[in-house]
Amino acid sequence: MKNFNLEKIVRENIRNMKPYASARSEFDGKANVFLDANENSFGSATIELYNRYPDPLQKKLRQKIAVIKKVKDSQLFLGNGSDEPIDLLIRASCDPGVHNIIIMPPTYGMYEVAAAINNVEIKKVDLTTAFEIDTEKVLTAVDEKTRIIFICSPNNPTGNVMNQNAIKEILNNFNGLVVVDEAYIDFALDKTIVGELSAYPNLVVLQTFSKAWGLAALRLGLCVASEEIIDLLNKIKSPYNINTATACLVSEALDDDSFIKKTVSNIISERKNLALKLSQLEQVEKVFESDANFLLVKMNQAEELYRYLMECGIIVRNRSHEKHCEGCLRITIGTKEENEKLINTIKEFKK
Ligand SMILES: *Cc1c(COP(=O)(O)O)cnc(C)c1O
Repeated sequence: MKNFNLEKIVRENIRNMKPYASARSEFDGKANVFLDANENSFGSATIELYNRYPDPLQKKLRQKIAVIKKVKDSQLFLGNGSDEPIDLLIRASCDPGVHNIIIMPPTYGMYEVAAAINNVEIKKVDLTTAFEIDTEKVLTAVDEKTRIIFICSPNNPTGNVMNQNAIKEILNNFNGLVVVDEAYIDFALDKTIVGELSAYPNLVVLQTFSKAWGLAALRLGLCVASEEIIDLLNKIKSPYNINTATACLVSEALDDDSFIKKTVSNIISERKNLALKLSQLEQVEKVFESDANFLLVKMNQAEELYRYLMECGIIVRNRSHEKHCEGCLRITIGTKEENEKLINTIKEFKK
């Protein structure tokens, strides 16, 4: 959308409000006596010191991540998981009980939950049975109250990357935010849409450290978009949303890309291996193509198999009640040993 105007889709109260001014955001000069934030000047109840509030805008960490993601740090928002920007984007643009968002089932559950919490209507336009975007239906579903279209690519739970031309058609024809959730993009980096940010002022891309980086417990998600959109998110986020422990540990992780390189390649090769082994089992009807760290697998007795696996101590995700996913289980790629155990356990499943 060339004449996209962010102002027009920001809620009036958000546009008019003044953000919270924290002690650390009011003072960022040099000092060595900090008596401004009611912190504990004597130290922390832990060995490591955590008595000082963190940088509200995570300047250093953002600069470091921006280099790796090849974007400007002003185009980067850091969140307490990518679930935080999902919620903030809805809260910034949708008046409760007035505006709506569009999602494309089967997809990630948090868009719907975040909208429901905010009393924002959810319009569902199913993906096709081949799990592709039905562009025409999506654009027809848009009305004057539609503020956000969520696209998950690679999609959870189906694993496929969405056609980039379909995404661009939506970007070109929708005068609201198009949020592309790339939580699994590190497994298919050449397919990221981040390179299109300068062409589309209404594009917002979400990524996370929870999957390929193996840092789910630290809760760090990121949102890449125009500087204007990033400023908006920073205006309404809670002041110290990224804690110091997370910032330090992630910063450390960024210094060495050998882990992510090695594990992404391991996971991709295990995925291929597991897909092949699964497809040879009589209990399996179909293994869907995946660009992520999981496989969607259609079983001939999904419910029974799911319960049987659970009794054997193997937990997978039952997705058989999701749109177009009848009989499907979602299986995360495990280690070689875990995958072998899964295959051998399924082989023992009596029909
Ligand atoms: C796992 C997942 C996320 C959650 O990411 P966090 O950064 O851990 O909050 C977001 N989107 C999708 C599609 C996911 O599967």
